Amino acid sequence: MNQTFLAATPVLEKIEKAGFEAYFVGGAVRDYLLNREIHDVDIATSATPHEIKNIFPSTVDVGIEHGTILVLFKGQGFEVTTFRSESNYEDFRRPASVTFIRSLEEDLRRRDFTMNAIAMDREGRLIDPFNGKNAIDYQIIETVGEASERFKEDALRVMRAIRFVSQLGFSLDRNTEREMANSAHLLKHISIERITAEMTKLLSGTYREKALSIAIETNLYSYWPSLFNQKNILQSILSFPTKQLTEIEIWILCTFLFNHSNSNELLKGWKLPSKKIQFILRALFYLRWRREHEWTSYDYYRAGKDISMIVERVYQTSLCNDISAIEENIENIFKQLPISSRGDLKITGEVLLEWVNKPAGPWVKDVFESIEKAVINNDILNEVAEIKRWVTSCYLQ
Ligand code: ATP
Ligand code: MG
Repeated sequence: MNQTFLAATPVLEKIEKAGFEAYFVGGAVRDYLLNREIHDVDIATSATPHEIKNIFPSTVDVGIEHGTILVLFKGQGFEVTTFRSESNYEDFRRPASVTFIRSLEEDLRRRDFTMNAIAMDREGRLIDPFNGKNAIDYQIIETVGEASERFKEDALRVMRAIRFVSQLGFSLDRNTEREMANSAHLLKHISIERITAEMTKLLSGTYREKALSIAIETNLYSYWPSLFNQKNILQSILSFPTKQLTEIEIWILCTFLFNHSNSNELLKGWKLPSKKIQFILRALFYLRWRREHEWTSYDYYRAGKDISMIVERVYQTSLCNDISAIEENIENIFKQLPISSRGDLKITGEVLLEWVNKPAGPWVKDVFESIEKAVINNDILNEVAEIKRWVTSCYLQ
């Protein structure tokens, strides 16, 4: 068995010794059967959270109201969740309350897709009442039970289905896909944060083009927040070689293609972290500039290495060009620049004030920018004497 499961096996053993059942469940079992890398193992058990806390001396209540306890064992943390049923769905969202139960099969029944509803015991034997292994073999995403019901219970599952398409490249079962289209409007009951979390995974997936095509076919996109709710933008994205881009680069490309006067508002519609929005907007600024200009050494310096690379990658993708050499080229350009930031200059603001003998003011910033430009363009060397000579001749006459 895989190393990640092996590390967790003693936890299962301990729970069993105490007289309860315990299994590996969810994404880890699915990814293991697919030979994909496993991130975190989830453990499901017939023991209640209280019983789990009696078995293990060291635990953290990470989600006790949903039955989840973090068990700290031999320096590692394992999420252990009590079998539960979720019957009280309200407003097409997660259930308001959960009921702890003792039946594994019932716990598997409340899970979203058959590929996610497989349990594995500590010997590696599968408990698979909904034929999830078969769905994995045939690369099919199908709901556990009636799709229309399951999407009505929790409309986020519509997003989960499509992000799994993007991550795994699987196809949707016909009925599941039809009901996804019928239930897409229920997404309006789901919080933007949860939709965005799935969208981020979707845009990071290897098969994102397949997923976005399905979003168009099922009309799901039209219930997304601004930017990605534009069919023409999605279709043009599909016409570019976006496979070569990262998730954030796709956001940048989209905002670029949308060319809206208030990109900030569009991005806020997705409630992206403000740091991410600021980064996208900065890249967008340079991307729009790039449309009209070639890079000079000073432009590279001003934009910085990260932004330069990303802007160039997105720009060339928007021209349908290959971008595989960009990173190395820009890396080399930056290696050859005499300075990589203002901090590399051999003079400080204080020194400048001494030379000029004038009260500090906005002029300091302007002079610094001129010095940086002169150094980057190799007009002067980054040496105190030379900078002084240059500043004196330019500004003190
Ligand atoms: P990932 O690899 O992205 O973590 P995952 O399948 O493990 O994928 P999680 O969100 O970690 O997804 O959820 C763990 C498991 O809980 C899922 O495999 C599924 O069985 C169940 N699950 C999660 N969200 C839902 C939901 N909205 N409805 C029903 N079951 C769900
Ligand atoms: Mg998971």
